[in-house]
Amino acid sequence: MENSISELTSIWNRVLARLKDELKEDPAVFGTFFSDSYIHTLDGKTIIVVVSNKTAAQIMTMTYTEKVLDALTECTESDYGIRFVSRDQLDSENQIKSAKPAYFSDSYINPNYNFDNFVVGPSNREAYQAALMVSQNPGRLYNPILIYGDSGLGKTHLLHATGNKIKSKFPSLKVLYISAQEFLNEYVKFVTGDTNGVSIVDWFRDNVDVLLIDDVQFLAKKEKTEETFFTIYNNFYAHSKQVVLTCDQHPSKLNGLDERLKSRFVQGLPLYIGQPERDTCERILRMRISSNGLDINDFDPEVISFFASAFRKNVRELEGAFDRLLFYTVQLGHAAHIDLETAKAAVLPLLDVKEATGSLSAERIIDTVAEYYNLPAYQLTGKIRTSQIALARHIAMYLIRIKLDAPFARIGAIFGGKDHATVINGVNKVENSLKTDRGLQKAISDLNKRLK
Ligand code: ADP
Ligand code: MG
Repeated sequence: MENSISELTSIWNRVLARLKDELKEDPAVFGTFFSDSYIHTLDGKTIIVVVSNKTAAQIMTMTYTEKVLDALTECTESDYGIRFVSRDQLDSENQIKSAKPAYFSDSYINPNYNFDNFVVGPSNREAYQAALMVSQNPGRLYNPILIYGDSGLGKTHLLHATGNKIKSKFPSLKVLYISAQEFLNEYVKFVTGDTNGVSIVDWFRDNVDVLLIDDVQFLAKKEKTEETFFTIYNNFYAHSKQVVLTCDQHPSKLNGLDERLKSRFVQGLPLYIGQPERDTCERILRMRISSNGLDINDFDPEVISFFASAFRKNVRELEGAFDRLLFYTVQLGHAAHIDLETAKAAVLPLLDVKEATGSLSAERIIDTVAEYYNLPAYQLTGKIRTSQIALARHIAMYLIRIKLDAPFARIGAIFGGKDHATVINGVNKVENSLKTDRGLQKAISDLNKRLK
């Protein structure tokens, strides 16, 4: 039996009433996260529910999916799936759909990353200022600018911020954000003639005024693609069209990148972005608390300084750890006041992973699995779903789960922001196949040996 949206909405109200009842010890949790949720659409058999923010979406998914599905099945006598999205996410997904350029399936500028929500400190000030200056005057000042540094330090954020600013200040300019991996995929499409005879060089010339290209290290060792990119790049440069690049290291250190590209990439303004200072981390946390609609006074000041020093190396990890704290407090019904003890208990598994495993890290597991299957590591954490890549990806998720005891949500974050249900599914597949599949048993045993 199919239900109309209005029928589903009244059912949703009943589901909410139940949740409210279950959470009556913690009215603040219900009020903060769920009271204003609503059904957005029915996508096939999946109900899309909008909640107030990302944390609420994660909490709903992690903690309440089963309860909600039970209630839905009971009320509708039908088998619906459910997906929780935040308002921000919905906005950016809508924007993705409308901004899709002709041949670029997955490139968009994320409206949630901007200069206003980028916390500036000594480690990133130069990169921030250069990106801001360039977006006020694209193509005129420094061309290209290159932001380089380790993962999780804000490079992609600044790239999108630049794109958003240019789009709002110069609406007539056509701005393209693309990661180098996506560029490689698109290059293949053009070469295999998927694009009605338009050349990729012409496409860029006619369709892009500002090029934001992320993670150019992935161009290394791809000679043909580098050649084409070189031509595209030269066209941009010759016509004073702005290019902004990011890379995980200084290009001169990149093995296998064409020398001509190396020198082009650093000819404008190369900017290093480093690990944030403690104070910067504290300010990032405070911003995250308020943007999630939470009250900073509910957190003991020691909690903030503990997070800022324990997870300083990588802002992505800092944010992940903090989200975990929010899950934990909601699950235990501790939402009222968060002290240091609660905070430490919440992130204990993450600290254990860091301390207890010594040289074994998620990164090493991914690299080892990738090498075993002869794939580049980025494909394991990327989106491509050929069966070979999917298998290797699931094995890597499985090993990270078993060997590091990492939480599913964290594994999801490592694999490019997959939700925890996808990770559980991957890990379960491996566990089930292991019972009978000799080939898989051998692969896991080989990998375990390599990881010793
Ligand atoms: P990179 O591209 O360098 O790997 P990202 O730009 O993806 O890193 O940043 C990882 C996460 O950390 C993102 O959610 C980003 O918004 C956040 N982040 C990084 N630096 C800052 C900062 N200075 N202020 C606010 N958020 C930040
Ligand atoms: Mg990035």
